[in-house]
Amino acid sequence: MNSSLPNCLIVDSLDENLNALKSLFEGERVNIFTAKSGIEALELMLEHDFAVSFLDVQMPIMDGFELAEIMRGHEKTKLIPIIFVTAGSNDLKRIFKGYESGAIDFLHKPLVPQIVLAKLRIFIELNNSKNLLKEKIADLEKTEITLKRALDSRDEFLSICSHELKTPLTSLKMQIQMSNRLRAKVGDEVAMSPDKMENFIAHADRSVDRIIHLVNDMLDISRVTTGRLSLNLESINLGEFTIEVVERLRPILDLSNCPTTLRVKDVMIKGDKYRLEQVLTNLLTNAAKYAPDCLVEVIVASNNDKATLSVIDAGKGIPEADQKRIFKRFERAVSPSLVSGLGLGLFISKEIIEMHAGELELKSTEGKGSNFTMTLPIEAQ
Ligand code: ADP
Repeated sequence: MNSSLPNCLIVDSLDENLNALKSLFEGERVNIFTAKSGIEALELMLEHDFAVSFLDVQMPIMDGFELAEIMRGHEKTKLIPIIFVTAGSNDLKRIFKGYESGAIDFLHKPLVPQIVLAKLRIFIELNNSKNLLKEKIADLEKTEITLKRALDSRDEFLSICSHELKTPLTSLKMQIQMSNRLRAKVGDEVAMSPDKMENFIAHADRSVDRIIHLVNDMLDISRVTTGRLSLNLESINLGEFTIEVVERLRPILDLSNCPTTLRVKDVMIKGDKYRLEQVLTNLLTNAAKYAPDCLVEVIVASNNDKATLSVIDAGKGIPEADQKRIFKRFERAVSPSLVSGLGLGLFISKEIIEMHAGELELKSTEGKGSNFTMTLPIEAQ
């Protein structure tokens, strides 16, 4: 039996009739099944799918019409096309009840081989088209599910983004309103003290930074998902680069009271400076956000042909169950009301490192801290 070929069932109580049809169909691309009674035929139909069945009308116990009526009453068999093989015109006087509900045809004895073969081929062709249609429908259904998921995730994305943008925008709006009120007090040295102004501007500046950061994340996520994120590769001394980035971020780390130590070595890699800075910034700001008042260690090391850059904090750590999940988009392991964020940073960072033929991995023990390490290939000399 060849499972890629359609099945054909011949039902006849006489061996010679069964064998005659069987040998006629031998060269055709079908699997032939034979049954000598209606019961035997039904058993086969329940077990296999048939593209066509040839039913002899005159059979003892259950004739071809009776068998056809039973077939029409069962889900598994009701759509099997039937070709009745009739001995004479008398048979046709019995009108088959299920005639209107399925593919039915008649062959008259004595059988003409060319006509029998032509009928078989037509029904096989019909079956092939039906299967093709089924496949197409299944494909369409799959596409529909994928599209629905894409729409859902777009809606989720829009709702998270708008929610996250609202906070810094509201804060900026409040600062503008306050500055308007202060303007009315020109000449009032207490109201317009330089300290107050400085504080005020710093606040507004942070809100704008936050908005720029969110918009950049949104742009990156769309670049990553559409495969439009590209790298500008250059030779980088990973040690020097890390010192520069950490020094630039020290005010943020200081603000979170995170003493930060550096242990680096000179190791050359090929990478996109802007993108690698984005990843390191994400890891360091995460340490400041999620491990305040804790020590942060930044280490650059090398091992054979690999360079590693680790950001290790002594914060609360990340539960094992969340460690894989947080690298996926929008996934977070904190309550949004505690620390704001889109849950995109690690997803984008991982993509960037993988585009550098590297890896971004996390080792963390709850209560002890987290170690995010990126591994990058050392530049060939
Ligand atoms: P976001 O900071 O916007 O939530 P990220 O993708 O950078 O997005 O981080 C995903 C989640 O991983 C965070 O919400 C947080 O739960 C967890 N996380 C990341 N870094 C740390 C860390 N150093 N310590 C504890 N949890 C962390």
